[in-house]
Amino acid sequence: MYENFKSHLQEELSGIEKAGLYKNERIITSPQGAVIRVSDGKEVLNFCANNYLGLSNNPSLIDAAKKALDTHGYGVSSVRFICGTQDIHKTLEAAISTFFGTEDAILYAACFDANGGVFEPLLTEKDAIISDALNHASIIDGVRLCKAQRYRYANADMNDLEQQLKKAQAQRFRLIVTDGVFSMDGNVAPLDKIYELAGKYNAMVMVDESHSAGVVGKTGRGVTEVYDLKGRIEIITGTLGKAFGGAIGGFTTGRKEIIDMLRQRSRPYLFSNSIPPMVAAAGVRMFEMMSQTNELQDKLHENTAYFVDKMIAAGFDIKPTESAICAVMLYDAKLSQDVAARLQEEGIYVTGFYYPVVPKGEARIRVQISAGHERTHLDKCIDAFTKVGKELGVI
Ligand SMILES: *Cc1c(COP(=O)(O)O)cnc(C)c1O
Repeated sequence: MYENFKSHLQEELSGIEKAGLYKNERIITSPQGAVIRVSDGKEVLNFCANNYLGLSNNPSLIDAAKKALDTHGYGVSSVRFICGTQDIHKTLEAAISTFFGTEDAILYAACFDANGGVFEPLLTEKDAIISDALNHASIIDGVRLCKAQRYRYANADMNDLEQQLKKAQAQRFRLIVTDGVFSMDGNVAPLDKIYELAGKYNAMVMVDESHSAGVVGKTGRGVTEVYDLKGRIEIITGTLGKAFGGAIGGFTTGRKEIIDMLRQRSRPYLFSNSIPPMVAAAGVRMFEMMSQTNELQDKLHENTAYFVDKMIAAGFDIKPTESAICAVMLYDAKLSQDVAARLQEEGIYVTGFYYPVVPKGEARIRVQISAGHERTHLDKCIDAFTKVGKELGVI
């Protein structure tokens, strides 16, 4: 049997390679940060991590994690409800609720699991899920696991959302679901208008704050802060794997009864391990830091504005961003790969994206700004872009 399957896989794999879509892992030999060492020993500036607040290698978080190894051990060897809940897991859940101004929170091993486990326990075939077309893969998979009727609206298109809400009036309960920040363009979901339409058409709202929590809003509380909707959104999901330290872990937070039901019926919570004590403890420390100062958010916002302004001045076409994601538009797929490769030679780590990850003819370099970047890092990146851009006829 395997001989046939093997040649089938080889054929598929060479197809992926021919299409230029074959993914290779880039090996890093240092901690994650603004400056990283790669496998050939070279140091490069990193502009493609989700390390928005520069916390991935933060000394205070490392200290909290080390202490927890001594006080709470290495692993818990259990799902939460059997014997995998330590005091620090509860403290972390409370800290998440406080941060978002919500009623309760539940931890998962990852936001992929939070999204995978949120729909099926809450909604049935009598209900409707109305989902943004550009929502994250984990939302799409979570919706697939649920029997609710599915409606899809074009990215951030409020006319389309209204049309879909009208169609969904036949169902019992309606849930609109959107990413807070969309990862390819860096645009923020128009949550104010979504909330308004939800009111008009009697729907609930869920927002995935993975790319927005810690990042957008004056104090980094995410999209609900941007639109002054703190405490009014039924469901928020998010990750501890991006701005919040970058280790691992996800959560769902929102209305008390919803979280309560997830503790009873959410499968990734019931049938998968608890996050390690050191991750929970570092998470608690991280939210303490967030409650004391907005320094990192301020620096991130300054860095992003500086980078975008300078890049536009240099002649680049940057998608209007409302987050820490800056899409440098090149439109041509091959050009995006050439620019990314040349930038890497110049010591700048970025990623080129093209169809099918972004629409045809919208190839780009995605630059992710961090509070961990210093002015000199940003200037070096802008200079390299300018040099390579001129060389390849972009500007
Ligand atoms: C990254 C991301 C996730 C997955 O988060 P993990 O904790 O890494 O599983 C889910 N949703 C969105 C919108 C994301 O950007």
